[in-house]
Parts: sequence; C-alpha cells; structure tokens
Amino acid sequence: MAIEFTPTPEQVDLRDMARSFAERVLRPLASDLEKLTDPWECFQRTRPAFAEMAKAGFTAGFIPTEYGGAGFGCIEFALAAEELTRVEVGVPTTLLGHGLALQPVIQFGTPEQKERFLRPFTEDATGDRLACFAFTEASGGANFDSDDPEAGVVTYAQRDGDYYVINGTKHFATNGSGWDRKGAHLYTVTVRTDRNAGAKEGLSVIVVPGDTPGIRVGRIEDKVGHRLTVQPEVVFENVRVPVANLLGSEGDGIPIIVGAFNWTAALIGAACVGTARTAFDYALEFAKSGKRLGSVPIIYHQAVGYALADIKMRIEACRYLTWRACAYLDSHADGRAEVANIAKVYCSEQAVKCVYDAMQIVGVESYTKDHPLERLLRDALVFPLYDGGNMGVRRRQLHGILCSPGYDSGLIAEDRELPFSKDMSGTLGLRHSAQNEIPGPAR
Ligand SMILES: Cc1cc2nc3c(=O)[nH]c(=O)nc-3n(C[C@H](O)[C@H](O)[C@H](O)COP(=O)(O)OP(=O)(O)OC[C@H]3O[C@@H](n4cnc5c(N)ncnc54)[C@H](O)[C@@H]3O)c2cc1C
Repeated sequence: MAIEFTPTPEQVDLRDMARSFAERVLRPLASDLEKLTDPWECFQRTRPAFAEMAKAGFTAGFIPTEYGGAGFGCIEFALAAEELTRVEVGVPTTLLGHGLALQPVIQFGTPEQKERFLRPFTEDATGDRLACFAFTEASGGANFDSDDPEAGVVTYAQRDGDYYVINGTKHFATNGSGWDRKGAHLYTVTVRTDRNAGAKEGLSVIVVPGDTPGIRVGRIEDKVGHRLTVQPEVVFENVRVPVANLLGSEGDGIPIIVGAFNWTAALIGAACVGTARTAFDYALEFAKSGKRLGSVPIIYHQAVGYALADIKMRIEACRYLTWRACAYLDSHADGRAEVANIAKVYCSEQAVKCVYDAMQIVGVESYTKDHPLERLLRDALVFPLYDGGNMGVRRRQLHGILCSPGYDSGLIAEDRELPFSKDMSGTLGLRHSAQNEIPGPAR
C-alpha cells in the first residue's frame, strides 16, 4: 500500500461532522463553564453535551460493530478528536476516559465478556452511560508494574470461591463519579490478585459493574485546567464480583494496562494538535492585526514571524506522528507501545511549548483572562503529566523497549512489530529479570 496522507471521503465527512459538532455544542459550553468555580458543577453542566456526543455516534464509535458500535479505527478517532479538542478539551476527555475504560474489554475480553460489558453501551438510549478506568492510587500510578511485592498497586482482589472481593482506593478516576455522584456505570479496575508477587504475576484487571455494592465516590479533584471533566476518588470496600469478570488471566495486568494506554497515547497526540492549533491561530491573528505602538503589524518583525513558523512546524510534525501512531495501532495487534509512547511524549511536550510560544507572541496581554491562551496553557500543562506521565511511565517504557533483546530501530518505519512482553514494561521489571540477557553490540 502506498504511504498515504489523504483522508478518505468517509474520513473527511467524519472530520467535518466533528468540526461542526464542536462549534455547535462545545463552543458555547467552553466559555460559560470556565466561569464556574466548583468542579462538580462544571462536570454536571456538560451532561447534555455528552448525551449529544452519544447521539452523534462518538461514545460508541470505537466499539466493534459485532457489539453494536461503529468500529472506528484509531485514525478516524484522531481526526475527530483534533476537531473537538480544538474548541474544548474537557468533554472530549470524558470521552477519552470512557474509551480508556472500555479498551481493556475490547482488546482482552472474551466474546462473552464483550457481549456482557460492551452491548449496554451501544444499546443505551439515554446516551449518558459512563465507563471509568480505575488505575491510579493515592500513592501514585507510575510504578504500577513494579516487580517488588511491597510496591505497586495496593488495591487487592481476594479470591473467595467464585468471587473476587476488592478493597482499595483509586484516585483521578475520570468519570468515576458518574453523573449522580453515585458511581460510573462500569469500572475496569487494576488490582493485585497476589499480595506476595510482583506485577508480572500479581497484577490483574477486573470489570466491576457500577451498581455493585461497596463502591463509594469520594472527593472530586479541583484541577487548574481540563475543568469540564471530572476526576474523583473512588473507594472499593468489600466489592464482590464474579471471577468471570476477570480480563485474561491473573497476572495479565501489565499487557492489559499497556494496551489501553497505547490507545489513549495515540489519541492524546490529536488533542495536543487540537490545542496547539488554537493557540497558533490566535497568535497568528493577533500578530497580523496588532501594531503594539509600532508602525507595522507585529508579524512583520522577523522574531515574531520565525516564532510562528516554528509553532506551525511543530503542529504539522505532531499531526503526522499522531496519524502514524494511529495507523500503526489500526494495523498491528501487538508491538504498539513504542510508536504510541513516542507520539504521546513528543506531542504533549510540543503542545505545551506551542502554547507558551504563542503567549510570547501575544505578550503580557496573554497572561490575562481576556485572551484564551492562559486557559490553553492550563489545559496543555497536563498532557505530559497525565495518562501515565511522560517521566514516570512513558519514557520509562520506551527505555524498557530499547533495552529489550529483540529491539530493532527500524520496526516503526518498516511497519513491522516486536511483540510486547512484560519485560518491556519498563526498567523496573528489567532490573529484576532480563537485564543480564541483553546482548552486547555486534562486533
Ligand atoms: C485529567 C486527568 C485525567 C486522568 N484520568 C485518569 C483515569 O481515568 N484513571 C486513572 O486511573 N488515572 C487517571 N489520571 C491519573 C494519570 O493517569 C496519572 O498520570 C498516572 O496515574 C500516573 O501518575 P503520576 O505520573 O503522577 O505517577 P506517580 O506515581 O504519582 O509519580 C509521580 C512522579 O514521580 C516520578 N516517578 C515515580 N516513579 C518513577 C520512575 N519509576 N521513574 C521515573 N520517575 C518516576 C515522576 O516524576 C512522576 O511523574 C488522570 C489524571 C488527570 C490529571
């Protein structure tokens, strides 16, 4: 197949639909809701927008057609996500968190589990069913894959006959409150199923229906940006779920978590492009229209023109890297972590730089609420920090992949795959197992 950057007519239609949806539904919300101070109130007010998103086909878009979804590829989702996040990033993050929670079922569920857990989301007439990926703990998330039985995830699932009994507290669980603060409709929960083993043997993922007794929603995080999406604490107290809700086998947690985070990584690239694009367009317009006591619009000053050109270069580079990561995800079932992590790390850090450089172009005015750039900076700052932060998780995984014995630097360019192994999850695992097996350079 030729190397192709031209969207198909169907993809163009989807992108245009997302663009008009964003203008019609998200634009009015964005400016109003920024004025609210209570994070719960912010989230509540987005409910009609989310329902409209469901009606437009976004919330079930990524679910396979066999289970009633639209079966969008990652690339389709990225085209839509850039348009949505260009206008507002919070409501699309609610959608992303929802998808992050369902990805483990899509990627690792049995046909029976997919039918049981995905179907209610595609047959939902109300359009406001929410799923939540409950992964982060009070003490962090970066070292979820630690080989040390004393470290890593401390939410435990104790086997009791045909049930698991789950106890633990999760933080920053997007959508974890549901719309009524009583809980999401479904949780995918990362747990330890063996207290005496490291993550390779003891980390697992269990699906918990939201109406299971013992789930309690705690405090809601009051974030500086991404104000329109909700990140509560969720407490699991003696929550009993059938063993049939375990995804894969006990000890499959690392590949399941990495698989879900590969999907969001590629799509966050699109959100970074959307945010950076808005900053660029604003700075460009400002530079063309304002003289700032000078005799010509500031775009004619070389420093300003070069800065704008640099932002544009980064946006274009990030878009094509995002598309590459998405195309790879769509065509390979395995070996996706390298390209997904590269896209997440690179695009997220460039997005922060693009917004900050746009602020330099606009000058001190950009530091006021009269301009959108301060909001864009608050929104952009989380891109490198969240979704498995670039420092604690993403770069660490890239390091793990580079260290793996079969690593080949031409894999992405040549569209081949290196199957994922638990040792690639990061250097924490490598230190305990494979490090001694890494061959030296060929002589
Ligand atoms: C808007 C938003 C939405 C979110 N949605 C969800 C969600 O839906 N579900 C969910 O579970 N979580 C969610 N989170 C949390 C998010 O995914 C976190 O990025 C993730 O849990 C990792 O947290 P952390 O990087 O702060 O790790 P921590 O473990 O708290 O680590 C803190 C810092 O320590 C350093 N560090 C720790 N260990 C290492 C190491 N081994 N190597 C190098 N540096 C290290 C790094 O600087 C790291 O950034 C969300 C957060 C936000 C802000």
